Amino acid sequence: MIIVLKPHTSEDNVNRVESLIKKRGLDTHIVRGAEMTIIGCIGDTTAIDAKLFEVDASVDKVMHVQEPYKLANRAFHPEDSIIDVSGVKVGGDHLALIAGPCSVESHDQVLEIAKAAKASGANLLRGGAFKPRTSPYSFQGLGMEGLDILCAVREEVGLPIVTELMSPDYLDVFNEKVDLIQIGARNMQNFDLLKQLGQLDRPILLKRGLNATYEEWIMSAEYIMASGNENVILCERGIRTFETYTRNTLDLQCIPVLKKKTHLPVIIDPSHAGGKWWLVEPMAKASVAAGADGLMVEVHNDPESALCDGAQSLKPSNYDQLLKQIKQIASVVGKIV
Ligand code: PEP
Ligand code: MN
Repeated sequence: MIIVLKPHTSEDNVNRVESLIKKRGLDTHIVRGAEMTIIGCIGDTTAIDAKLFEVDASVDKVMHVQEPYKLANRAFHPEDSIIDVSGVKVGGDHLALIAGPCSVESHDQVLEIAKAAKASGANLLRGGAFKPRTSPYSFQGLGMEGLDILCAVREEVGLPIVTELMSPDYLDVFNEKVDLIQIGARNMQNFDLLKQLGQLDRPILLKRGLNATYEEWIMSAEYIMASGNENVILCERGIRTFETYTRNTLDLQCIPVLKKKTHLPVIIDPSHAGGKWWLVEPMAKASVAAGADGLMVEVHNDPESALCDGAQSLKPSNYDQLLKQIKQIASVVGKIV
């Protein structure tokens, strides 16, 4: 952190600001120019609110030179993190291929989709049991019955499961039964929930909030990590922009940006980004080409009758076609599939 003092600040005032900084446990390095005095703060400034110093009449401006996150920061952890999801590795050279319906509707539905997705090359099965729906009148998911179906299909097909946790009431049951716990876009800044995830042993898939900046998103990962669980995977699922033709706008730039700023794996959900099934293939291919560590794709055996998000779901045959191309792109960018 750098504190710029107002021009011609008296020596007494410089000393006063310096003692304020020292009171916060920081050391100082003072640079005196002809007109300006600048104080460099030395030490851990992550927990310090820079705005506090701006209250002082002698202070012109305060600038943070370090990011406010530590555990997620690549500067302190240069290697890519590789997260183990019940034996499936995510990050580094590995490509996570998560597929399945938006919502669990029945045992037969999930079983049919899971078998087909696995045959195409998917390595993780998704399915929503607890659904965050915009309308209270829409299908809300099968709840615990849906989770039991996912667990049964995991045994039958042999794919670890990914499903969304919305309420802290189910923390224990998810910790026991779910291989990768998804935190949806709408809960990305549910800080109490994030803190409680820190107590779990399971890895967390943290989706980007609808209008979250990179820093806000990484800070949410930092909440989970600082509370004790460093196994976090980031998932971009499109952000709100002025464009209404697509459901959201897929931010592919997040891949290189997040890889520069953090060591956490970054996966892309092209289904919720575009909201249209025919956008999934080109955006999935672009994501892997841009260095994504995985894809989460909604696949449905009968999208026309899906209870949720049928319009953005691929049929199993289209998912199969997609993965054939993804495997080729993966080999070009050095990912193992
Ligand atoms: C989902 O994956 O089913 C979902 C609801 O996603 P998001 O939180 O990104 O909207
Ligand atoms: Mn969905």
